[in-house]
Amino acid sequence: MPNPSELRALADEAASVVVIAHIAPDGDTIGSALGLAWALRQLGKRARVACADPSPRELAFLPGVGDISAEPPEDEDLIIVVDASDVERIGSLYDAQVFATRPVVNIDHHITNQRYGTLNLVTQRSSTAELILDQLTDLGVTLDLTIATCLLTGLVTDTRGFTTSNTTPASLEAAVVLTRAGALLPAINDAVFNHRSITLLRLWGAAFVATRLEEEGVLWTELPLTMLAQAGADLADAKGLVNFLSSIDEARISATFRETPEGKVDVSLRSVPGIDVSQVAMRFGGGGHPQAAGCLVPGTLGDVRSRIVQALREAARQDRGPAPGPGVG
Ligand code: AMP
Ligand code: MN
Ligand code: MN
Repeated sequence: MPNPSELRALADEAASVVVIAHIAPDGDTIGSALGLAWALRQLGKRARVACADPSPRELAFLPGVGDISAEPPEDEDLIIVVDASDVERIGSLYDAQVFATRPVVNIDHHITNQRYGTLNLVTQRSSTAELILDQLTDLGVTLDLTIATCLLTGLVTDTRGFTTSNTTPASLEAAVVLTRAGALLPAINDAVFNHRSITLLRLWGAAFVATRLEEEGVLWTELPLTMLAQAGADLADAKGLVNFLSSIDEARISATFRETPEGKVDVSLRSVPGIDVSQVAMRFGGGGHPQAAGCLVPGTLGDVRSRIVQALREAARQDRGPAPGPGVG
């Protein structure tokens, strides 16, 4: 028999596992955590998913999403954190003492990952879900419809429906495997992309009016608390706005700055290939991918925004040149 993988060995020894998704969760962290929890249950483990923040409403269709709680690790034998590049992304569920008392597996696809686990499965893939799919065979798990639905949701959300530059032949192969297992690609796409609230429309309307385009091609807008209140909007309504801004032809970098009630600014960044916004996000204590990154910065909206816009304009000036279009070469 071949040597069991390190993950397999840790899973074999554990009777109970808590799988942790990152704060302000997205489809990849929730889909990955649920998919992995279902896989572990198939192996006879007691597995639960924990997340410090509530799941976005568009993920309500995912099997098991209603059982996710904000309970920190308790007596579980093993902690697995998915899609979180550093321990700050674990939020209130992180406790250094608790984490030091048992194995912690860090499964992630962020280039900025801080390798905080006792085992770090960190590979650059489209999504953490794609990475987890790779591990299933090793774990001795048979892919079923439930697991496939969760993992395909992670792939779809992190690649925005297989349209972003992190989509590779391996992501498409993963999608083939998952759809063959029964996962419904059109239904997942519809659920995660085609349902928007009227409060989102009002918020985005106000945010569009406030957009500014810098001469370097940095397109940005800001969302003060008052703007959210006037629109009747919540946090979830602010998500995705930066992706829309990135579709504007003049935008080489797009950015949104959202004021939080805790006196911080939640920053979302997107860029064309050739400009690495994860470097800028890292400088401000965040992380992410070259073309999609973010950070949560203490300070006033005006101050944080002006410092980051400055850094983004600088990054845009250092651009290595326009990315090749789809027909080039
Ligand atoms: P978002 O703009 O929230 O969609 O996030 C884009 C990317 O940046 C995702 O891959 C996130 O994981 C990452 N990211 C966002 N905010 C942070 C943060 N505060 N710290 C580290 N990574 C972040
Ligand atoms: Mn994520
Ligand atoms: Mn991800």
